[in-house]
Amino acid sequence: MIQPTLEEGIPLHEVTFLVIDLETTGGSPTDSRITEIGAVTYRGGERLGTFHTLVNPGVPIPPFITRLTGIDDLEVADAPPLAAVLPSLLEFARGAVFVAHNARFDFSFLNVALERHGYDPLPPPPVCTARLARRIVWPDVPNVRLTTLVDHFRTPTRPRHRALADAEACAEVLHALLEIGGRLGIRTLGDLHLAVAARGRPNFGKIRLADDLPHAPGVYLFKDREGRVLYVGKSKDLRSRVRSYFYGDARRMVGELLERTVAVEGIPCGSELEALVLEARLIREHEPRFNRRGRTWRRYAYLKLDLAETYPRLKVVRSPSGRGAFLGPFGSPRVARLAKEALEDAFPLRRCTRPMGAATRFPPCVLAEMGRCLAPCDGRVGPERYGELVRSLISSLTSPGGLLGALEARMRALAAEERFEEAADARDRLRALAEALERGRRDAWLLGARELAFRDATGREIRFPRGILEEVDARVPYPRERADEVAAVRSFLARRPLTLLAADPPLAEPVAGGADLHRALARLRAAAADQGPAAATRRAPNGR
Ligand code: SF4
Repeated sequence: MIQPTLEEGIPLHEVTFLVIDLETTGGSPTDSRITEIGAVTYRGGERLGTFHTLVNPGVPIPPFITRLTGIDDLEVADAPPLAAVLPSLLEFARGAVFVAHNARFDFSFLNVALERHGYDPLPPPPVCTARLARRIVWPDVPNVRLTTLVDHFRTPTRPRHRALADAEACAEVLHALLEIGGRLGIRTLGDLHLAVAARGRPNFGKIRLADDLPHAPGVYLFKDREGRVLYVGKSKDLRSRVRSYFYGDARRMVGELLERTVAVEGIPCGSELEALVLEARLIREHEPRFNRRGRTWRRYAYLKLDLAETYPRLKVVRSPSGRGAFLGPFGSPRVARLAKEALEDAFPLRRCTRPMGAATRFPPCVLAEMGRCLAPCDGRVGPERYGELVRSLISSLTSPGGLLGALEARMRALAAEERFEEAADARDRLRALAEALERGRRDAWLLGARELAFRDATGREIRFPRGILEEVDARVPYPRERADEVAAVRSFLARRPLTLLAADPPLAEPVAGGADLHRALARLRAAAADQGPAAATRRAPNGR
């Protein structure tokens, strides 16, 4: 039996290839029969053996097949039947890798015949020299017919629709292809199988760009002719990951990327975590056109309670600068506005944009009548009373249990009154606020720690090295340019069930209002999940 379990890492010069060709009475493996088998075995470029026999098919050979191959009924009348041939063929093929031109035909034909005679089928995958040629020499050749490839490589044996000659021609073409393949990095049996299965054929030759990359974690950059960075990615194994783009990534975006790529730079990192952070940093720096999130950081926004004003109000801003209390960054100004509205539901702050000093007076708007603004505009309250409201809001951001409870109660009251649209809006606002608060707490902890160590589910220790986010301001909120770096670390920690081993400084538990925040978010997320994926998507307003 052909060897089913050859190691994929075995070098090609150590692999025994069985190069085979069948002549048959027709094209259907189930209805047609084999009339001739030709096969040669090779290892390290040296021929090991030859197998050739005519086979009595037990059925008449159609005239058009005779015209094509020259094999007629008379020629096979004294030949052995397939049942007598198969044992010696299997012995000849033992331990070898199946190779043929348009291998699917010969492979399936032989497998159907084996099953018909009570043998196990051959293990896949076969190596197809036509497919391999398509990856390696197309479009330098007009097609990948065996005769075309023989002409292209000037190999000595010409195919002539006879099994042994065609098998020998195929073997010579295989060696020519492997010689070029070696320069492209096809060096092991696994490489060969991947190359045969590869779909990204027009740029397969560029796979050599990965040759200098190490098998180590890090970040890779695809670059164009002008040195512009087209794409940034990270991987636990730089070389394997970059090679995989050439082996079978059929996405149209990848085809276009490979078309433009002339160089791939690899930056090894000490760990997967460092690679994640560096990837985020480089994407923000280069804004590569093939990274979907290349420019998304520009949309990030913050909520600011502007403490420079006599009567502070909430504003959606692009950067956390100036005197104020901040929340964020949010994924977009829209989400920041949702959180702003949630806070304004709970705190009757002014919302008008007119400059106001302590003595400024102008007529109030409808919010005053509705009791939704303290209306400092008409002198109803002064800076002192208004300042109490502001202090209460700031305190709620630190200890949000009461605030979240009030907003949740309001949402439920709306639902109880069957004002479902308003209840849904209130829920979205509440979730935008709660998620921002939760994120802010995690980030403050993460950025405030000088050193963190975890153990993952496999028992491996993960050290959060000092200085991994050294360029990020160790304050929350940090600038939006750094938001994706922090998010990368946050998601790295969130994706794994980790046990905290050490923290410097130690974690201060319990965090005020932390349990309320956690419970409120769990309820909101469960409610969204209950209503199906569409609802869950709609109700994930933070988008980061
Ligand atoms: S009530 Fe007065 S202070 Fe409040 S939002 Fe309206 S105009 Fe501004």
